[in-house]
Amino acid sequence: MFAKNTELNLFDIILQFIERTTKRAVSPCVFIAMGKLIRCISTDGTLTIMAADTTDIVNEAANIHQTSAVVSAALGRLLTATSLMGSALKGKDNSVTVKINGGGPAGTVLAVSDFQGNVRGYVQQNVVEIPLNKKGKLDVSGAVGTDGFVTVIKDLGLKEPYIGQTPIITGEIAEDITAYFATSEQTPSVVALGVLVNPDLSIKAAGGFIIQLLPTAMEDTIEKVERCIKSVEPVTKLIERGMTPEEICHYVLPEFEIEELDSANPVYKCYCSRSKVESALISTGLAELNDMATQEKTEVGCQFCNANYVFTPDDIKRLIKRATK
Ligand SMILES: [Zn+2]
Repeated sequence: MFAKNTELNLFDIILQFIERTTKRAVSPCVFIAMGKLIRCISTDGTLTIMAADTTDIVNEAANIHQTSAVVSAALGRLLTATSLMGSALKGKDNSVTVKINGGGPAGTVLAVSDFQGNVRGYVQQNVVEIPLNKKGKLDVSGAVGTDGFVTVIKDLGLKEPYIGQTPIITGEIAEDITAYFATSEQTPSVVALGVLVNPDLSIKAAGGFIIQLLPTAMEDTIEKVERCIKSVEPVTKLIERGMTPEEICHYVLPEFEIEELDSANPVYKCYCSRSKVESALISTGLAELNDMATQEKTEVGCQFCNANYVFTPDDIKRLIKRATK
């Protein structure tokens, strides 16, 4: 993952390092805002459905990143999808990163989830002001852009992470994740994501659901699902009305009998720490470190939670000592 990317800067190196060392987290920075997430399976074994209310999580993200409405919608949709994807991971050291790079004014949008759906995310440009789209809604596609890729990186505790990449279809994110599932994972899916932003830029409702056909799906399963979702209201409407993720699962698939697999209360959670940043700085190499030692101070900001780590020349010299040991 390091070597393939030619546009690396210090931030990227640190980000990637943080990803790789997530499992050695000492004191994760946990925000108390809590989401609700559930995973269910149909009793006929033909599909799974997971749903989440991520209102609090997206609100936290909007606060941290001070996003404009359309960026909150883009980041919130991606956080929701990534949290749902994360919740399906098996191992407690597993993580999933979803990056959308569409060339729009918002730049790169990225989210990372652990196996319990705890997420963190960032967006390159936090403030984008563009007109509403033709439907009178926040123009997420306009902010994200359509000229680029959805990249999914799954760290499953193996030697190499799994990396899947598919072209962006609409930039509305749900369709793009659907296309990723179809192409990269060969899994027919229905993805619905939504974020409703208040005039004061707080989040009124956010959430989503993902239906996935299992290999045991029968010929009529797709037809049944299509019939079910035809008249489904936007997921933000359901959450606004007070429906729980469990109720959403039953509401979305009335023709299926479903039962719960598991549930969780995911939060916006960052795993950064000073010791991880130190290790990341060391990994940049002696030349970089020697250069940093000549600076008045070196500051490293966490792009996920805005934590700021400051290193004096003496701090850097100690790192050089560690690096040359
Ligand atoms: Zn952080």
